Amino acid sequence: GDTLGILGGGQLGRMIAMAAASLGLRSHVFAPDADSPAFAVADAHTVADYRDEAALARFARTVAVVTYEFENVPAETALILSRHAPVRPNGDALKTSQDRLVEKQFLRGLGLETAPFVAVDDPGALARAVAQLGRPSILKTRRFGYDGKGQAMVREGSDLAVVFRSLGQKSILEGVVPFTREVSMIVARGVDGGFRAYELNENSHAAGILATTTLPAQVAPETERLAAEMARRIADALDYVGVLTVEMFVVPGRAGGPERLVINEIAPRVHNSGHWTLGGAATSQFEQHVRAVCGWPLGSTQRWGAITMQNLIGEDVQAWRSILAEPGASLHLYGKTAPRPGRKMGHVTRVTPEPRRGS
Ligand code: ATP
Ligand code: MG
Ligand code: MG
Repeated sequence: GDTLGILGGGQLGRMIAMAAASLGLRSHVFAPDADSPAFAVADAHTVADYRDEAALARFARTVAVVTYEFENVPAETALILSRHAPVRPNGDALKTSQDRLVEKQFLRGLGLETAPFVAVDDPGALARAVAQLGRPSILKTRRFGYDGKGQAMVREGSDLAVVFRSLGQKSILEGVVPFTREVSMIVARGVDGGFRAYELNENSHAAGILATTTLPAQVAPETERLAAEMARRIADALDYVGVLTVEMFVVPGRAGGPERLVINEIAPRVHNSGHWTLGGAATSQFEQHVRAVCGWPLGSTQRWGAITMQNLIGEDVQAWRSILAEPGASLHLYGKTAPRPGRKMGHVTRVTPEPRRGS
């Protein structure tokens, strides 16, 4: 059979490789860290740097298509790979989503709402940006931020030189969005432009890290439709192939109008807030992604019930035995050895069957 190439060896890559195996595919994972959770379930793996041209070329020649679970690879990586195999999603999706400034400009260009933002390259620019956006506001590095890392609040009385130095690189300042809820939309687009959306995820964070995802989200049905439309506009504009995630803030409507959606960021991949689809939906996001990048028909996104997905972070994982004893709980562990604080060790999904909406 064919082999799927996966760039990145974390739990997302691991679950993509498992979905590939279920569909009769082999997988070859490329990652820089010899201790990668995805290696244990892949048919082959390469340990090399994302800048190692020879290793990238050798890897790409063994696979039918390359995808990724980690978007912060150098732009040249996708270019080198694409000489040997199709890279899906394409390099433009990578470039757009790995830089918060480029990403927000792209979204604004599509007429979509984002937090107000100003580019900040140096301490002087931060002072001007704060004069524009006010306090509190949030300084974020343009690149490499995740789980709330690479961010600093600008509060009343914050010393701007200290705030800038705490990140020390090209950043953007964002106005604080007065959201009532955080949601994410997970969609898939096929090689033929076919499109499927999952239902909207409602997300809660603790210490900057996703803690739980619940469905159905407590939003108006029109908001749910709007979210899918927005994600579709993004996917079409990028000529996107694969699973795409759009993180959004729900904001109360102006003057009693309908609630609005402000886009926080996009992730060109499967996403932690979509883990519930493993067992909670007809087709998991991982299988959906494999189908999409292989050019196969997309699967149903039907949801099986009311969902709670809980991340097992750090020592949370110690509860694994009692979770296994719980009826209706499905436990997923990533095979990581050291439960360091803040490290995602696994997740548990609880599905409660519910009558279909409208019935
Ligand atoms: P992820 O792990 O999702 O990639 P990240 O490190 O890229 O996270 P963001 O998603 O930008 O960080 O921000 C983390 C969290 O901080 C958001 O989920 C939200 O709760 C809060 N936040 C970020 N930006 C804003 C904003 N402009 N206004 C209000 N809250 C915000
Ligand atoms: Mg992010
Ligand atoms: Mg985020």
